[in-house]
Amino acid sequence: MLARTVLLFLSRRRRLRRWVETSALARRLTSRFVAGLKLDDALAVCRRLNELGLLVTLDCLGENVTSAAEVEAARNAYLAALDSIEELGLRATVSLKLSQFGLDFSEELCYRCVEEVVRRAAAVPTSVEVDMESLEYVDRTLALVVRMHQAHGNVRGVIQAYLRRSRDDLEMLCERGIPVRLCKGAYREPASVAYQTRAEIRASFLSLADLLLDRGVYPGFATHDEFLIGRIRQHAREAGVPATGYEFQMLYGVRRDLERKFLEDGLRLRLYVPYGEAWYPYFMRRLAEHPANLVLLLRNLFRS
Ligand SMILES: Cc1cc2nc3c(=O)[nH]c(=O)nc-3n(C[C@H](O)[C@H](O)[C@H](O)COP(=O)(O)OP(=O)(O)OC[C@H]3O[C@@H](n4cnc5c(N)ncnc54)[C@H](O)[C@@H]3O)c2cc1C
Repeated sequence: MLARTVLLFLSRRRRLRRWVETSALARRLTSRFVAGLKLDDALAVCRRLNELGLLVTLDCLGENVTSAAEVEAARNAYLAALDSIEELGLRATVSLKLSQFGLDFSEELCYRCVEEVVRRAAAVPTSVEVDMESLEYVDRTLALVVRMHQAHGNVRGVIQAYLRRSRDDLEMLCERGIPVRLCKGAYREPASVAYQTRAEIRASFLSLADLLLDRGVYPGFATHDEFLIGRIRQHAREAGVPATGYEFQMLYGVRRDLERKFLEDGLRLRLYVPYGEAWYPYFMRRLAEHPANLVLLLRNLFRS
């Protein structure tokens, strides 16, 4: 718990981030979880994953930007990614964060630029998955997802099982026929709004997963937790949901052992493939989820 708190704290340090993102040594450390610094690096990874039978979602890393120029750069990066998805015929969606599209300082700019990405994705055709960030963004993120879905259809929202409010939010999305990615939640939220223990979060995840399998549209279950995966598969079988009626999602590099098994079992699995220069907060959240990764990464570093 202490390691998680410290790593999440470090994930928000701007000066440390600036120093680390330009360090060659750090880049070697991150390659397990981040597909590369450039779009071409990520495309090569996506092609390989598609060839193996895995679906992907491309995430051009970035969050909490502070200027319109950065928002426009993010939009351009996503438009370029979508051009490549179309050109290469990849089985890929894109995932983006609204704080990367300026939600912190201009909702109008954020809506406009996200809408350009959603429109371009519709023409590919593919969809845009709108990541969920910390609690202060939840209402505004859901509002954007609803609005984009009404206008264009090709968006997926995210629900975090650790939030106590999530059942209401999920019901609202299901009523509107909006596809959902369900995850545990990666931020630090107080007990007044979020479940804290592993058992509570798992129980919430399973109850929301049941609701999604019964009433959701092509649900996505984003977890590496084998206990949850087993229960979801069982519920899907019992409810008569075919393997093509839902998908699991995992982060690139986290459970390579499970990926093979999923394919052998005929399950759909989408990998979340992040790339780009702004990898620091993403990478630190991955370490916070699983501090043992620190040891693993350092060992790899000294071996190579
Ligand atoms: C595709 C995808 C999209 C996501 N999108 C969002 C989002 O939009 N918003 C959000 O708040 N969160 C998001 N998350 C993160 C999520 O909320 C969790 O923080 C994260 O997935 C860890 O939870 P878990 O369900 O995998 O279970 P855990 O209990 O954390 O992990 C289960 C097991 O998986 C393995 N494992 C898990 N994480 C790691 C890791 N980093 N390194 C190595 N092994 C690991 C370990 O073996 C662990 O015992 C996403 C996760 C995925 C997979």
